[in-house]
Amino acid sequence: MPLVTGGEVTYAALDYAASAPALQRVWDDVAAYAPYYGSVHRGAGYLSQLSTDLFESSRATVAEFLGCRESDQVVFTRSTTDSLNLLAAALPAGCQVFVFETEHHASLLPWRDAEVTFLDAPRTPAQAVETLERALAARDPSPGSRLRSSRGGPNGPALVCVTGASNVTGELWPVKELAAAAHAHGARIVLDAAQLAPHHPLDIAELDVDWIAFSGHKLYAPFGSGVLAGRADWLQSAEPYLAGGGASRTVARRADGGVDVEWHTTAARHEAGSPNVIGVYSIASACKALTEAGFDSLVEREQALVTKVLEGLAGVGAVRVLSLFGDDAPRVGVISFVVEGWNSSHFAAALSAEYGIGVRDGLFCAHPLVRTLLGSEPQEPGECGAPEAEPGERSLNAIRVSFGAGTPDEHVERFLRAVR
Ligand code: PMP
Repeated sequence: MPLVTGGEVTYAALDYAASAPALQRVWDDVAAYAPYYGSVHRGAGYLSQLSTDLFESSRATVAEFLGCRESDQVVFTRSTTDSLNLLAAALPAGCQVFVFETEHHASLLPWRDAEVTFLDAPRTPAQAVETLERALAARDPSPGSRLRSSRGGPNGPALVCVTGASNVTGELWPVKELAAAAHAHGARIVLDAAQLAPHHPLDIAELDVDWIAFSGHKLYAPFGSGVLAGRADWLQSAEPYLAGGGASRTVARRADGGVDVEWHTTAARHEAGSPNVIGVYSIASACKALTEAGFDSLVEREQALVTKVLEGLAGVGAVRVLSLFGDDAPRVGVISFVVEGWNSSHFAAALSAEYGIGVRDGLFCAHPLVRTLLGSEPQEPGECGAPEAEPGERSLNAIRVSFGAGTPDEHVERFLRAVR
């Protein structure tokens, strides 16, 4: 839904990478359901049953949207951050985690209780695969060996966490190749699809990743719900992420005074408490809307806007577009840049105040990546931001423009006019 700032002028919300505007279809579906909603899995009443049906059919819709395998589970969470923290809490003992330093903090930081290897920033997709191969081979004394022990060490469990599309550069990562490398060394892989899912059809089986995590609010649904989908075994042998009602099948007092709990072995194990039914239904509605609109044609249109923005920015001498994999690397509608002689925060503020364009400035919760791209030293941290450079100094942060389904051409054209 466009934001109206007055009269006929619409505000150009070009910050889809933070949160994309929810689709009208999603608001319509939620409004139609609103008079009927009730708590799920809990009542014999009609509204509770209706809501339970909608909740569980939303799970099936998401599974279909992601191309889930028969044995995969779809767990509803609050967000991508929540999904990855859930997986981190479910890692088997001794699990080693491999993550590129270029990741969003949501992928970089949840593994603090595991043994983490941070991989250097690659400068090509092929280098990303080589770097991962090398790190996994160093762990595995007999590369290709699938011998596993639950004790950790070189043949113990391992997980690779990688983003599908960067929230800074929009660049696509070689997910399939990284998954193949992980599996060849007996490791598993989770895909942070926060930025990929809104811009690309996904197929978990085809990519051959073990889990996919994404957020509803970036996939054209409102805030508050997310997804972790994939292999059930680690999730179902772990302690529940939250303990409480809904996750437990039976609870009984023992003779010695303690309590015996039998936890569910379905997705419910990690969904304790009354779930966000409307949020979950919104995700399913967005998945259906994207599929019915023809996701491939949405991608095609978005790619035309990517080309237009990149060509437009290339025509402004003072602009430098940030890229890890090179200017020709394929990317989604997420583009960051700096403007010579301009403080990025002032530039973004001017786009908003003078042109009615909302972009983002800062380090985008990917501090190591943005510093690598800007060639700057670590500074005093700010909340996903950076200290301000003085006019004329080298930028310590960047400006990000991002767009997707439903972005009007006029918004992108206005943005380019304003930058020029
Ligand atoms: N990963 C990536 C690549 C992201 O861009 C974001 C959000 N900026 C997240 C994870 C975290 O998403 P959320 O804030 O919805 O948990």
